[in-house]
Amino acid sequence: MDTSKRRLLGQIAAITAGAVFIPLAEADGDSTPTKGKRYGMLIDLRRCVGCQACTVACTIENQPPLGQFRTTVNQYEVTEGDNSAFMMLPRLCNHCENPPCIPVCPTGATFQRQDGIVVVNNDWCVGCGYCVQACPYDARFLNHETNTADKCTFCAHRLDAGLLPACVETCVGEARIIGDLNDPDSRISQLLTQHRDDIKVLRPSMGTQPRVFYLGMNQAFAERIRGEAPVRTLMTASGKELHHGH
Ligand code: SF4
Ligand code: SF4
Repeated sequence: MDTSKRRLLGQIAAITAGAVFIPLAEADGDSTPTKGKRYGMLIDLRRCVGCQACTVACTIENQPPLGQFRTTVNQYEVTEGDNSAFMMLPRLCNHCENPPCIPVCPTGATFQRQDGIVVVNNDWCVGCGYCVQACPYDARFLNHETNTADKCTFCAHRLDAGLLPACVETCVGEARIIGDLNDPDSRISQLLTQHRDDIKVLRPSMGTQPRVFYLGMNQAFAERIRGEAPVRTLMTASGKELHHGH
C-alpha cells in the first residue's frame, strides 16, 4: 500500500477515534434478558472484503425474489484528492432488543422468539407494510412474490437444526460471528468483551438496542444505512457524501 493511501486510511481511523465511545449498555439502556439463549451477531469489518458471498449465500438459502435481499454489503469509496480507499458495511436485520417493527404489526405476525430472533409468521401477515416503515434500518421489505413482510431471520431454521446461518458459514474472511450473548464463554461474548472499546451498533440513538454489533466501524458510517440493495457511495475522508447510487 502506498503511503498516501495509508495516510487516508489513517485519517478514516482518526474519525473513528474522534467519535465519542459510549459503552453499549449505556448507549442503548441494555435490557437483554439474562436467562436463556440470546442470539447476536458480531461483524468484524476488519475482515470483510466486500465479496458479497454472504449476499449470494443468503439468497440461495432463503430464496427472496429477484432484486430483493435479506442481507447486503454496502460499499463505500472514501476519497481525498487522487487517493481513495474502500470500506464495507454488511447489513441485515439487527434483531433489536427493542424492535419498533413489532408493536406496529396489527396481527401479531411479527414477533420476537425467546432467543431474541425477530421473525414474521407469513400466515398471519396481511402485507400492510407498517413494519417496513417502522424499521429504522431498511432491514425489511414486502416480498414481491408472497406480498408479506420479509427480512433476515438469522437463518433461524438452520440454527434450530444446529447449523450456522448461510452468511456466516460462507464468509471467506470469517467476518461474521453468531452466538449466545448470554453465554460468557461463547466466542461472540469473548470478542465483545475483548474489543469493547471498538464495538458499535447502527443508529444507537434510536434506542432499538441492535443485536448486530460491528467491530472496527468508522463512526461516520453508523448513520449511512440507506437502501436495502447494495449501493456504492462515494464520500470524503471527513464523511461528506459525494455520490450515492448503484
Ligand atoms: Fe425490526 Fe428493523 Fe430491528 Fe430488524 S432491524 S428487529 S426489522 S426494527
Ligand atoms: Fe404485520 Fe405483515 Fe403488516 Fe408487517 S406487513 S405489520 S408483519 S401484518
